[in-house]
Order: sequence, then C-alpha cells, then structure tokens
Amino acid sequence: MIGRALTLVESSAPEDRHRAQQLVAAILPFTGAAHRVGITGVPGVGKSTFIEAFGLRLIEHDHRVAVLAVDPSSSVSRGSILGDKTRMEQLSRSDDAFIRPSPSSGSLGGVASKTRESILVCEAAGFDMILVETVGVGQSETAVADMVDFFLVLKLAGAGDELQGIKRGILELADLIAINKADGDNIQAAKLARAEFERALHILRPATDDRWSPRVVTTSAVTGDGLDTVHNAIIEHRRFLEKNGRFESRRSTQHLHWMWALVEEGLRAAVREHPEVVKLIEALERDVVGGRTTATIAAEEILNAFRVGE
Ligand code: GDP
Repeated sequence: MIGRALTLVESSAPEDRHRAQQLVAAILPFTGAAHRVGITGVPGVGKSTFIEAFGLRLIEHDHRVAVLAVDPSSSVSRGSILGDKTRMEQLSRSDDAFIRPSPSSGSLGGVASKTRESILVCEAAGFDMILVETVGVGQSETAVADMVDFFLVLKLAGAGDELQGIKRGILELADLIAINKADGDNIQAAKLARAEFERALHILRPATDDRWSPRVVTTSAVTGDGLDTVHNAIIEHRRFLEKNGRFESRRSTQHLHWMWALVEEGLRAAVREHPEVVKLIEALERDVVGGRTTATIAAEEILNAFRVGE
C-alpha cells in the first residue's frame, strides 16, 4: 500500500495529480511526527553503506526507518547515481525499513517536491525516521536540506587539501559533517580532515547561544565507529532546536518555500504549455541558439505572449 501511495504521489500524470493531492490531504493529520534527516555526499563517499549500517542501528533503537532519494541524474541520463534497488540489501529485508529509489522523471524541482510528499506518506505509514539521500552535485543538496530537520554531509579524507574545492554552501547547510571511511590506514587522515573542517566551521559559523553549531565526526560503516555519535548528535540537535522554538519554525519556513516552489513549478509549466507561447517557442529557441536574438529579448517575448494570452 505504501508503494502504491508513493507511486501515486510520484506520478506526473494530470489525472493522478488530483488523486495524489486528495491522498496527501487525507493523510496530513497523521504526518509530521518523524525525524527527517538528509544525507549527502559525492558518489563513492559511502552513502548507501552508511545508510544501511545506520538504518540497522536505528532499528535496534526501535525506530522504523524509511529511505528516500533525490537523484538529480535520473531526469537527464535515465541512469541514476542513487536509487539502485540492489543496494542496502540487509536493511531492505527488515520489516522495520522501507527503501524507495528516487522518482525517475521530471525536473529536479519536480522530483524534490514529490519527495516532500513521499516523506508525508512514509510518516503516515508509521515510519519515524526518514532518511533522504542525495548526491553532492547541483541543486539537489539545497533542495534536500530544505525538506529535512537535520542535514548530514559525508566527506572523505584527502591528502590535506580537504577544504579545497569544498563549497561554502555545503558548510552552511550542514548540521553535521562526517569524515567517512575512517578505518584501517585511513584513520589518521580522517582525524586530520576532521580538525580542518572544525577550524573552517569555526570561522564560517561561529557558535552562538541560539544557533546550532555544526560538528565534525569521523565514521566508518565497516567498523561501526561513529554511528552512535551521529545518532546522538541528531537527537541533541532536535532538543536544541525545540528548546529555542526553532524546530517548528524551521518546518514552517520549509512549508513556505515549498508553496512557492510549487507556484514556480506550476507557472513554468503554464507558460510552456500556453498556446500563444507554444506558437513562438520553436522559432525563438532557434533564434537564440543562432545568435539572431538575445536571451533577454526572447524571454520578454515569451512572457508577453503569456500575459496577453491570459
Ligand atoms: P555511495 O556511492 O556514496 O552510495 O557509496 P557506497 O556506499 O556505494 O560505497 C562506495 C565504496 O566504498 C564501496 O566499495 C564500499 O564498500 C566502500 N565503503 C563504504 N563505506 C565504507 C567504510 O566505512 N569504510 C571503508 N573502508 N569502505 C567503505
């Protein structure tokens, strides 16, 4: 039933959208109780291995765990960076876990907004830990950070150049950074990386009384080291936000963002599908590509056609 509900909310077909909205409205009173955790990192950083080990641990602590994914690759290449069904085999066998690959069509905005609804479905189905996985490219991290209560960034230790190439944005989104694969020969490098990230965070996000100061830990899915620390940080973070009244306000802000994202998405579709615009698009695109007009002028023409047509 959960699978069918998710398929419905993920569907882009207009006839499904209406039923999906009815479904979401009906389950709304049963949503919101879960802890929503976003997890990001580049391919190969160990996300699925981590989520499997971490998810099993959460289940030991009597949680019911749902894993969702926002995969920015799927709409373009059809192949996905995430969302391969054979991953997380052990976790997927547990009755207390539900793993859903990324919805595989649409723009990132579309996929992200479906994932928000998927979170609600999983919550209504009684999952109290929702892990939303994404990959460290493009806008998907921002999208996921804006739908979760806690944002975990997985990193690998390199050769002392940790901070090169790290996007400032990610340091600003992270509630916790885990230097992953901190096992075997890698332990020392991981500790060094941890110290470097701590210094960077200290400068970028100095601690204040009412703001959570993000931490850096080392983790290994192979040895299990650091998994409890991550769990405890998630719990502590929630207590901290609740004490400041920020937990609910973070969610309220996210709802507002979501509303506007849906408005923008709807508008974009309405413009593209508008009969007056449709008449122009092909020629305008050709002219822009051919350098016969500028993007600015072409955009203006499209918007005018849309407005006049209204
Ligand atoms: P993802 O692409 O981020 O989901 O990464 P995967 O979970 O698929 O892991 C990529 C590779 O790293 C696999 O070969 C894993 O076996 C390995 N790996 C994952 N976690 C760890 C870890 O904690 N320690 C070590 N040594 N290897 C790991």
